Amino acid sequence: MSRLDLSLDGVALTAQLVDIPSVSGQEAPLADAIEQALRELPHLTVHRDGNAVVARTELGRPERVVLAGHIDTVPIADNVPSRRQGDLLYGCGTSDMKSGVAVQLRLAATVPTPNRDVTYVFYDCEEVEAARNGLGRLARLHPEWLEADFAVLLEPTDAAVEGGCQGTLRVDVITAGRRAHSARSWLGRNAIHAAARVLAILDAYQPRRVVIDGLEYREGLNAVRVAGGVAGNVIPDLCTVTVNYRFAPDRTEEEAFAHVKELFSGYDVVLTDSAPGAPPGLDKPAAAAFVRAIGKPAQPKYGWTDVARFAQLGVPAVNYGPGDPNLAHTRDEHVRVTAIAECEERMRAWLTA
Ligand SMILES: [Zn+2]
Repeated sequence: MSRLDLSLDGVALTAQLVDIPSVSGQEAPLADAIEQALRELPHLTVHRDGNAVVARTELGRPERVVLAGHIDTVPIADNVPSRRQGDLLYGCGTSDMKSGVAVQLRLAATVPTPNRDVTYVFYDCEEVEAARNGLGRLARLHPEWLEADFAVLLEPTDAAVEGGCQGTLRVDVITAGRRAHSARSWLGRNAIHAAARVLAILDAYQPRRVVIDGLEYREGLNAVRVAGGVAGNVIPDLCTVTVNYRFAPDRTEEEAFAHVKELFSGYDVVLTDSAPGAPPGLDKPAAAAFVRAIGKPAQPKYGWTDVARFAQLGVPAVNYGPGDPNLAHTRDEHVRVTAIAECEERMRAWLTA
């Protein structure tokens, strides 16, 4: 079995984590190594569920915080084992998000008596469909393990605090027509032509900009797919425009869907996919204290992340990790080694001040 050495610095530990492959669904060897390393630390209570590992301090502090990270990666692209080149560490998962997991493990090993109780959460299957998500499973099966006043998800943010996250939904806007032979097109009604009006609505749409807790969220409403057509000699009777709405976290999923339906009133609008946003919660004392300790202004998170799952549990959460979000899932994925040390230092200061 692979072993992790938590006395290594964050960069060397990231390299060790990258060198134990853990593509989604195949995290067992890495989860085993993490569990074993944490069980050797007498100040932590360790739980295991599937390929998720949870370790907690039990000091009876008035406040508890969660530091969470997923241990799976997207499929390897000729980029394992890791390799160091100057100030950069290359390899699958260096940015998303084994450097963040290394910071969690370093803090777990080196801060035995933090000023707030800490729950370290390492979970599986974040990079695949939501139904398999390990954090979602823990929330269903062991919600008490995730109870906290505040959570930090160490997803790649290039060492900046990113608050909350936008919601996302997809709808199919369907235009109907009447089928006919294209040689006698006046007998039909062209559904693809009708889609032009749907696209015109999208083209003219002014997305909102919303400020919540001092962070500006920019919404987006976009066609992401158009499907229609029967054959080269048929007037089509059906066209589907798939629309993706990224909405600020002041709107619920229901409100967001109602907004889209109203925009396309008169059309058949079918909801195909939806996930809620998460408000940044920076007005909560525990979150505000974290932002102060990191010492940089917080930014809004535009993508969807598992902070939304914490929000649903009533736990305000932010993203803060050493990886670079723009490099996640790329073949030349890498992380700045200085960002790993910076995150570890700032978080240690926060947990020991
Ligand atoms: Zn990630």
